[in-house]
Amino acid sequence: MLSTKAKVLANKIKQQVFRLHRHSRVWLPGECLVCAQPLSSERDLCSACTAQLPQNNHCCRLCAEPLPNLLQEESSHSGLCSRCRKNPPAFDAVIAPWLYAAPVDQLLWRFKYQQQRTAGYLLLDLLHDAIHSTPLELDALVVIPGQRERIRARGLHAPTWLAQRLALLQGLAFQPSWLQSTRTLTSQQELGRKARWLNPRGAFKAATEVQGKHLLLLDDVVTTGATAHWASVALKQQGAREVVILAAARTPA
Ligand SMILES: [Zn+2]
Ligand SMILES: [Zn+2]
Repeated sequence: MLSTKAKVLANKIKQQVFRLHRHSRVWLPGECLVCAQPLSSERDLCSACTAQLPQNNHCCRLCAEPLPNLLQEESSHSGLCSRCRKNPPAFDAVIAPWLYAAPVDQLLWRFKYQQQRTAGYLLLDLLHDAIHSTPLELDALVVIPGQRERIRARGLHAPTWLAQRLALLQGLAFQPSWLQSTRTLTSQQELGRKARWLNPRGAFKAATEVQGKHLLLLDDVVTTGATAHWASVALKQQGAREVVILAAARTPA
């Protein structure tokens, strides 16, 4: 009982410190991370660059894959891409508000591979905006687990870093232990389309705590949707009620 109270208090303190850190950026001189124009704002992105972000508006309502113009008509009845019509994925939705294109891809690169925290905070703000405007009933936030060797080499695991802070902003419980890797994955970049889809099969195990829960599953980018699908299979097999994927960007097919 006491430990639960202590945890709630610790979480409230963390939330306050985090809010203070965010607001402090208003008074600190900064610059737009895209065009380098000097600015003082809570967010390091000027209004002109914000307006030019590549939005993922015309996409499959299930996997958020951008639909080419020709396909938009064909799939307009269902709002689904051809793959989701044939083989619906295990997740219930993907929220991926931006396309994996400039400058979102560069921001992700700077955060993931150069550990630029300012880019991380900007991505965090964009993710926060995306779920703030979506009515969702959620019980917890989980994350696609990283590969230990890669985390060691890079120094941080981008989805976990984002999830810890997003959970504080959203007042959600972050449960990193509810989804774990069972084996090391071959890098998806080295594989063909079919091998990419099957590569993460059986690579995740979910905790029994997910039973009956509505979960938000965070990853940085959704490329084929295979990782999100197989992670959701593991969560659903343990009885998760709903799995919504949240990613900063979606790669076109
Ligand atoms: Zn700018
Ligand atoms: Zn789809």
